[in-house]
Formats: sequence, C-alpha cells, structure tokens
Amino acid sequence: MKPEKDGPQRTCLGCRKALDKNDLVRYVLSAAGDVVVDFRQKLPGRGAYTCVCRACVTDAVRRDQFSRAYRGKNRRPESDTLIAQIHRQLGERVEGLLGMARKAGMTVGGSNLTLASMDRPGELGLVIVAGDMSEGILEKIRRKCQATGVPLHTWGEKASLGRLMGRDERSVIGVKQGKLAEALSRGLERYKQFVGEI
Ligand SMILES: [Zn+2]
Repeated sequence: MKPEKDGPQRTCLGCRKALDKNDLVRYVLSAAGDVVVDFRQKLPGRGAYTCVCRACVTDAVRRDQFSRAYRGKNRRPESDTLIAQIHRQLGERVEGLLGMARKAGMTVGGSNLTLASMDRPGELGLVIVAGDMSEGILEKIRRKCQATGVPLHTWGEKASLGRLMGRDERSVIGVKQGKLAEALSRGLERYKQFVGEI
C-alpha cells in the first residue's frame, strides 16, 4: 500500500514525479490560449503542474508537455516567460505573507526590538534583514541568530521592507513563531532555491 499523503497528488510535466499538489506550480490557460502561472492555485480551468524548479519547467516546454496536457488548445509557452512569472509570484507570496504577519501583529520592527526578542527563547520564528543594511548591525543580528538558532533571511532593501511594514525604511524585521512564520520560511526557501538554480 502507498503511504498516506497530505493532499491530492499531481504529476510534474517535467520529471513526471507525482507530488503533493501544494508543492507544485499550477498552470492554467488564459482566454487567449496562453499558459499562465497560477501560483496561488485559485484560477478556474484545467490545471497543469510542474515542480518549483527551472529544470522541470524547461523540460516540460522542450518536450511540449503543455500541448499534451491541454490537448493542443494552448499556444506553446516559452520557458523564460514561465520562469519569470514563477519568480515574480514566489516573491509576491513572500511579501504577501510578510504583510499578513504585520497585520496580525506577528512582527517586531527594528534591530533593538528584534535583538531583545531573541533574548526570549521561542519568541521569534525567523529574522529578515534588508540587503542594503549597515554591516555593523547585520553582524550583531547574525551573531545573535547563530547563538539562538533563529533562522536569518535577507529580503529586498530597507525601502522595500519599510513599504511592507508601512513606514519609510526597515533594516530588520523579526517574525514571531507560528503558522505565518513557518509559511514565510518555506516561501523564502522556495524563492532562494528557485532563483539560485541558474
Ligand atoms: Zn518535476
């Protein structure tokens, strides 16, 4: 007997592996017959799937698997276009979750408050720093994260993090432990994996 899985399984058009639907990228056809990325898996219509991985997207396009999935009703997609859409939607997912965490009161802003939060074990699920923050403060944060085992991620710049937090600039954001922090960690990992895979 197959082991029980968490959710419905779908097959990747690239590597042909069957995986949990939520771990895959969903595609649908637009009215014009273009294959479009439906990362949130919300758009109506017949779905096709690949892994969140450039190699599987490229393979699926090269072997014309989308035409098979859509019985030739589609225009043949370009892998670069699909990869760019996935890249953008992975980023939107991270920023959407960060915005939700802020609205839910699950974020701590600024280096002092974040460092203080890390002194209370179990309070933070992860820390996010801006790519253009000052090296001195970054080093403090990095050391504290290492000492406390809180994962550290880099995202955007001070201005873009600030915009997500509803202010001018933000260098450091702590996200309190919980479901949103878990989803955010997963989103950041997937983004890094996808973007790093060149
Ligand atoms: Zn695959």
